[in-house]
Amino acid sequence: MIQDNRPDDVVIVGASLAGVRTAQSLRGHGYGGSVTVIGDELEHPYDRPPLSKQFLTAEWPRAKLQLSSADDLASQHVNLILGHRATGIDARERQVFLDDGTRHRYGALVVATGASPRRWPFESQLSGISNFRTIDDALQVRAAFERGAAVVIVGAGFIGTEIASAAAQRGLDVTVVDVLDSPLEAQLGRVGAAALIELHRDHGVKILPGRTVAGLHGAEHIEVVELDDGTKLPADILIVGVGVEPNTRWLSGTALDGVGGVPCSAAGATAVPGIWSVGDVARWMVPRLGRRVRFEHWTNAVEQAGVVARNLLGLSAPEHIHEPVPYVWTDQYGQKIQQVGRRHDGDTTTVVYRTADNHFVAVEHNGQHVNRALALGVPQALPHLRRAIRSGADLRSVISLF
Ligand SMILES: Cc1cc2nc3c(=O)[nH]c(=O)nc-3n(C[C@H](O)[C@H](O)[C@H](O)COP(=O)(O)OP(=O)(O)OC[C@H]3O[C@@H](n4cnc5c(N)ncnc54)[C@H](O)[C@@H]3O)c2cc1C
Repeated sequence: MIQDNRPDDVVIVGASLAGVRTAQSLRGHGYGGSVTVIGDELEHPYDRPPLSKQFLTAEWPRAKLQLSSADDLASQHVNLILGHRATGIDARERQVFLDDGTRHRYGALVVATGASPRRWPFESQLSGISNFRTIDDALQVRAAFERGAAVVIVGAGFIGTEIASAAAQRGLDVTVVDVLDSPLEAQLGRVGAAALIELHRDHGVKILPGRTVAGLHGAEHIEVVELDDGTKLPADILIVGVGVEPNTRWLSGTALDGVGGVPCSAAGATAVPGIWSVGDVARWMVPRLGRRVRFEHWTNAVEQAGVVARNLLGLSAPEHIHEPVPYVWTDQYGQKIQQVGRRHDGDTTTVVYRTADNHFVAVEHNGQHVNRALALGVPQALPHLRRAIRSGADLRSVISLF
């Protein structure tokens, strides 16, 4: 039976991908109550993936980053409060507190506060050191690129390597340092990591695995990054991309401030009545794994927003459960690298398709079932791979796709 206990007002904290998509999804389902989205950034809600891609290479103007125009949100009667941080909640009175002293009553609250760059133990007062999460970070880095900088990047994850790709495409001198001996392997598997690192080296990027920063030198601005083996790298800008942490501090003292993200059911509900959580901040139960997982992927944030909008409105009974098939992509040197599925310990990697120019599809499997697939420069394969993994296809049928 479908319930009809819709809240009169929904407050969403976090005015980025997950928050905005939740608001739009509520309206898409015909919800007529009040919807308020609160965000601490001043910029109109924007999409982050292009920041390290088309925005950094200056192919996209700032306006193209918007998740939805101000007119669209206004016409959907979404009340947008920007430039204000939520500082806490009173769960019993169902109120959210903002940094300007105002309180907002909610019937349902959606926590969509995302994640922030992990603090780097290497504190420095020098200018020219940047994280990479916001449009302001991207503008700072882009300006340095335009001045023709020597670029040092700490962290060879997706964001670090995307920035390296953008910098190399501008002809800059780029070095990427990573503490791991095999960077990117955790994200892309052995074959994918090796291919991406080779792609960088082919474009003149120096990747230094197994190295950490030992010192930062300069008068006021960063000039030299010193590594633990004594190497001194000239640097006009240092970009730190060493991972993120969920933004839960504003919820401290509540049951929502769990270790590693806001703990949620597989339907997006928290243990506190009327409170839900979506996107990079949320740690949802994944029934297939029997544990909670926090994802940091665009597609996951959008999917969770849709699931929570349905459940919050009581559109499914029992609540709609989300069984994610993780999907992530990165764009580097004009190549789309896409990965779908979840790695299983002990899986074997098989390259099932390769073109003359070294584009390929690799699958990770246990001899029978394919658990994860990676496509480098073969975007047309993705929908097929996604369907195959979602339906639990076996290795033979995946091979027969090519
Ligand atoms: C540079 C970059 C490139 C990326 N590229 C890809 C990619 O290629 N593919 C992919 O799958 N994913 C990519 N991602 C990840 C993807 O962008 C995230 O998964 C997505 O942004 C998550 O959205 P979110 O709304 O949950 O969180 P966020 O985008 O982190 O947004 C949370 C918002 O809440 C605000 N906030 C935090 N605390 C408060 C508070 N107390 N009060 C009010 N507001 C608050 C934050 O300032 C922020 O505006 C990339 C991320 C970055 C940074």
